[in-house]
Amino acid sequence: MPERFTVTTPIYYVNDVPHIGHAYNEVATDVLARWHRMRGDDTFMLTGTDEHGQKIMRTAAAHDTSPQEWTDRLVETAWKPQLDLLDIANDDFIRTTEERHERGVKIFLQRLYDAGWIYHGEFEAEYCVGCEEYKTASDLVPGTGEYEGQLVCAIHSRPVETVREANYFFKLSEFQQQLLDLYADRPDYVQPEHVRNEVRSFVSQGLTDLSISRSTFDWGIEVPWDEDHVVYVWFEALLNYVTAIGYGVDDETFERRWPAVHIVGKDIARFHAVIWPAMQMAAGIPVSDHVFGHGWLLVGGEKMSKSKATGIEPRQITDVFGVDAFRYYFMRAIAFGSDGSFSWEDLDARYHSELANGLGNLASRAIAMVQKYRDGVVPDVAPVPEVAELLEASVTRADAAIDRFQIHEAIDQAMRIVDRLNGFVTEQAPWVLAKDDARQDELDAVLATLVQGIGTAAILLAPVMTRSTQSLWAAVGGEGEVRDQPIRSAHAWRGTGRVETIPPLFPRVEAQ
Ligand SMILES: [Zn+2]
Repeated sequence: MPERFTVTTPIYYVNDVPHIGHAYNEVATDVLARWHRMRGDDTFMLTGTDEHGQKIMRTAAAHDTSPQEWTDRLVETAWKPQLDLLDIANDDFIRTTEERHERGVKIFLQRLYDAGWIYHGEFEAEYCVGCEEYKTASDLVPGTGEYEGQLVCAIHSRPVETVREANYFFKLSEFQQQLLDLYADRPDYVQPEHVRNEVRSFVSQGLTDLSISRSTFDWGIEVPWDEDHVVYVWFEALLNYVTAIGYGVDDETFERRWPAVHIVGKDIARFHAVIWPAMQMAAGIPVSDHVFGHGWLLVGGEKMSKSKATGIEPRQITDVFGVDAFRYYFMRAIAFGSDGSFSWEDLDARYHSELANGLGNLASRAIAMVQKYRDGVVPDVAPVPEVAELLEASVTRADAAIDRFQIHEAIDQAMRIVDRLNGFVTEQAPWVLAKDDARQDELDAVLATLVQGIGTAAILLAPVMTRSTQSLWAAVGGEGEVRDQPIRSAHAWRGTGRVETIPPLFPRVEAQ
């Protein structure tokens, strides 16, 4: 039976403008999903949008429209087009305004309520509408300018609102020990290590119960036993991961797809690795497989943000370098799990040195030589042992790196093949062998080695660069779609034995 691999992005806050920070998360999740599909795993990639809450209601009103029309518009004009632009092959897209989500949320909540994990209580706290979060004193800073003399949200620099409500609470505080046991028993549950340490230290300081409903506005999902309340947007949003796969209504699908792996920015790792597993335990469903908190993209040393000058739209990059280069650059240049800096100079340098000169040049030279010396027919001999061993070892290492979510390491293994083959061409000098009748067997071995290596690299890079690898694959005689090749035996692929000319895969880009 194939292994299950269900992987999720967070659902993106629909009011945001999609920027390269979201794109980074989408691409990484997509690369993992594509890799697992090429392993033959029963793979399912889920993404979607988070569409409830007071802020969305207010923004819709400011645009003279209803929240439903407003969110419909944003999903269709911003979020789905970004997935298309970036070649994201998600299997599903869930919106929290969908009926399937609402139904699943109500079932989940009712189970928690019936099991005694939810109670009614009084509440007074400072609330930031921008964050859709209650704030503690340490989250607030003195205001400046028009807010001089008031305390403001440290993130939004705007005053918070004092809210007094009778709300429903989730008994999060009772899960402290179970959560600490979870982190101890399953050290790979939260990754990477520094995120795990942060989460564990947060939980070890003690947990307070979580207010999970609101009664002052109605853009949300009704609490099933009390129509005056809607479910707190964060609590409800987390449930998308199960409502999309049939929780409470389609047990067969749910058991097939759950548990999942969550790929999230480190800033929301706490929600996913503290509140969410506690909710799962309370509902009696298995805890998620992994929560991986990746780093932030920094531009000029600052976190990417729509409201600052650092906001870069993916299209600004893909228009110049193409989608493949976009996907390659962010996965290759940043160790997955660490923060990484984006710069146009670094992108330009890697594009030209690694893709145009490294991979592109290797492919066009090798194909030209097979055409010139062997009329386009790949010699039917084994690759030289030294390179054949490298190919197999690289495939094994790349595949193992994916199990540790180290996407950059997997790419590095593929690019080591490219580097080695470029060195191999220089050392073997096929143009010298070609002139010597006594060395034609050597030339056969060199050409066969190059073609085998390029095909292997194309398979390993296929989850990252969906377009150029298909051209490359076809050009070296690969049959069918490169994305259908079994990735764990990428080194052992067999093709038609003929090469075809390809246009430059990575045309030179003039400095802007
Ligand atoms: Zn705020």
